[in-house]
Amino acid sequence: MARLLIDEEACTGCEACVEECPYGALEMKGDVVTVNEKCTFCGACVDVCPVEAIALEKEEKEAEGVDISQYKDVWVFIEHKRGRITNVSFELLGEGRKLADSLGCKLSGMLMGDGVEECAQEAIKYGADTVYLTEGPVLKEYRTDSYAAGAVNLIRKYKPDIVIFGATTQGRDFAGTVATTIYTGLTADCTGLDIDPETKLLRQTRPAFGGNIMATILCQNHRPQMATVRPKVFAMPEKDDSRTGEIIREPLPIDEDKVRTKILDFVQGAETVNLVDAEIIVSGGRGVGGSENFAVIRELAHVLGGALGASRAAVDAGWIPYEHQVGQTGRTVRPKIYIACGISGAIQHQAGMKTSEIIVAINKDPEAPIFKIATYGVVADIFQAVPMLTQEFKKLLAR
Ligand SMILES: Cc1cc2nc3c(=O)[nH]c(=O)nc-3n(C[C@H](O)[C@H](O)[C@H](O)COP(=O)(O)OP(=O)(O)OC[C@H]3O[C@@H](n4cnc5c(N)ncnc54)[C@H](O)[C@@H]3O)c2cc1C
Repeated sequence: MARLLIDEEACTGCEACVEECPYGALEMKGDVVTVNEKCTFCGACVDVCPVEAIALEKEEKEAEGVDISQYKDVWVFIEHKRGRITNVSFELLGEGRKLADSLGCKLSGMLMGDGVEECAQEAIKYGADTVYLTEGPVLKEYRTDSYAAGAVNLIRKYKPDIVIFGATTQGRDFAGTVATTIYTGLTADCTGLDIDPETKLLRQTRPAFGGNIMATILCQNHRPQMATVRPKVFAMPEKDDSRTGEIIREPLPIDEDKVRTKILDFVQGAETVNLVDAEIIVSGGRGVGGSENFAVIRELAHVLGGALGASRAAVDAGWIPYEHQVGQTGRTVRPKIYIACGISGAIQHQAGMKTSEIIVAINKDPEAPIFKIATYGVVADIFQAVPMLTQEFKKLLAR
């Protein structure tokens, strides 16, 4: 951890640092300044002090790296929503199992919450050998301070080699806080993870430079090696009810009064597009030709009980909001059926949907690249083919 050092002899009590501090972390005690727990070690006070009475000290050992031989095992953060594990955590347990097997080490879950032991048992059935569990009322709902304090405590004590998180809203917030607190790297939004056979380092692959190249990132001197992975990048593993494992409990090192965020109420937000969990997706591209024409695509999605997707070309044209975009810079999806209507199948679109179980492509150009990955291809005008399909499905479903 960093420390803020105040030379009380040198401090003149001018209060320049108190005014400068964006976090209200400096207070006057008599004639000298003191620092409180709000300090983030940003260094703004160091720069403004006219008599150089403030210094920021970073632990050399942490800044240079750690003894990596002390770190072992692969951990997966088990994210849950009020006791229900999110699908991405299962997907990561499946991938974590492969990483652990290739390293010859254990796979563990890191779980926090209140009354969530059942989730620990569930994680074991999906591949974990051990679950590190921290429980308490302070952890009932996700809050950055309390969850990060619990995770940092577990990581410092048990020293995992690798920790992976779902790239969800919670996972992104949480993993970033943990990584900066323990001085390690974090590769966000990975699309591939594997172990280098020679160095045994985690190869973390993700799109870089706006998606134009794929970068493979290594974390050589710091531990744990940490990554977030988007939902649906990895397949859901099989559940094995016969699996057993160990649950290791650790207390939470912080009290409610140290948690800066208080939850007053939960308000149901506007309905969001749930592309990621949809079993059927009907997507429209530039071939749809305009926002009002999306009604044709929307109706087929509706009849099939599926979600409405789109290519970036349709989103960029303003025909449909970004939440519907499938692809490298949109959502990654893995539905049972993906129906691409008027979409050429550019590599960036395929990056978000090519692992769908069945791909149906409707395109008037027989040379469109989408046909190379399609299970079923229909060379036709979407404005003829899609309404026909909608009518047929309506008839079938009415039986
Ligand atoms: C860094 C980067 C990130 C990107 N991220 C994404 C992403 O996340 N998602 C994404 O989708 N794209 C992404 N793109 C854009 C991508 O390269 C393509 O430009 C885009 O996918 C094309 O969308 P489209 O297939 O709808 O349009 P087009 O490529 O223009 O294809 C339209 C297709 O519709 C067909 N068509 C036209 N009219 C009809 C009709 N009446 N009936 C039947 N077929 C018809 C045409 O034959 C054509 O094949 C990204 C690009 C870059 C550089």
